[in-house]
Amino acid sequence: PTPGAPLLEVQAVSKHFGGLRAVQEVSFQLHAGEILGLIGPNGAGKSTLFNVITGVNPASSGRVQYAGNDITRLGAAQVHRRGLGRTFQHVKLLPELSLLDNAMMGGYARGRAGLLRSLLHLERHEEAALRAEAQAQLDRVGLGAQALTLAGSLPLGQQRILEVARALVADPTLLLLDEPAAGLRYGEKADLAALLRRLRGEGLTVLIVEHDMELVMGLVDRLVVMAGGEKLAEGTPEEVRRDPQVREAYLGA
Ligand code: ADP
Ligand code: MG
Repeated sequence: PTPGAPLLEVQAVSKHFGGLRAVQEVSFQLHAGEILGLIGPNGAGKSTLFNVITGVNPASSGRVQYAGNDITRLGAAQVHRRGLGRTFQHVKLLPELSLLDNAMMGGYARGRAGLLRSLLHLERHEEAALRAEAQAQLDRVGLGAQALTLAGSLPLGQQRILEVARALVADPTLLLLDEPAAGLRYGEKADLAALLRRLRGEGLTVLIVEHDMELVMGLVDRLVVMAGGEKLAEGTPEEVRRDPQVREAYLGA
C-alpha cells in the first residue's frame, strides 16, 4: 500500500433492505494506528455498515477498499483472512467452554474455513500452537490466570474483553467492534477503553461502533456520526461535540 494511504476506505456505500435505506452513500477513511468511532442513534445504520465492511452482508452499491485492495465482494471469512478482526454486537461466546477454548476459536480464520469443524480437524502440533497463541492473547488482555474458567461464569465486562482476545488470536491489523460496551457498568467500560488504548499503542487500528457517547469521546481519535442511514458529521470528538446537527440528532435540540 502507498504510504499515507488509508488502511480502510469506505466509498459511497449504500445498503438497502427492500425499500428501507439502512445505509445511504456513506464514505469515510480510516488510517493505520487510529481509533475511529462510528456513532449514531439506534437505527442509524451503524451495524448494517459494519456488516457490509466485514463482508457479512453485501453492499447494495459503493466500494470498500482495504490496504489498497477492493474487498467489496468478499465474504466474511475472506475479509477476516485479510486481517479485519471483529467482535459482534451480541456476545457470541460459548459459555460452557473455557476462556482458552473460546479464545482458540479466534484462530480459525487464518487459512481455514468453518469454526468448530476446523478446530476438530487441527493437527496436534497446530492445536498446540493455537493453544499457545490463545493463552498469549489472554495474558495480553489480563485474563491469562482465568484461562481454564468457563466463559459463562465471567462478568459481562470480562466477557467483552475475552471477545477482544478471541479476535486478537487471528492477528488482525484492523479490529472492528460493534457496541462492545453495551450493558457494561461504568468501571467495566473504563477497563475496556483502557485496553483498546493500550492495543492502539501496540500498533492495532480500531473501528468501534458505539452508542455510548461518553465512552467514545474519551477513546477515539476521530468520529463518524451517522443518523437515518446517512453520514451526518465527521471529525475529532471536540469538532463533533460542537456540531449543531449532531446535537440535534442526539439531544433533539
Ligand atoms: P444501528 O446499528 O445504528 O442501531 P442498524 O444498522 O442495526 O442500526 O439498522 C438500521 C436500519 O436497518 C434499521 O431500520 C433496521 O431495522 C434495518 N435493518 C437492519 N438489518 C436489517 C435486515 N437484515 N433486514 C431488514 N432491515 C434491517
Ligand atoms: Mg447496531
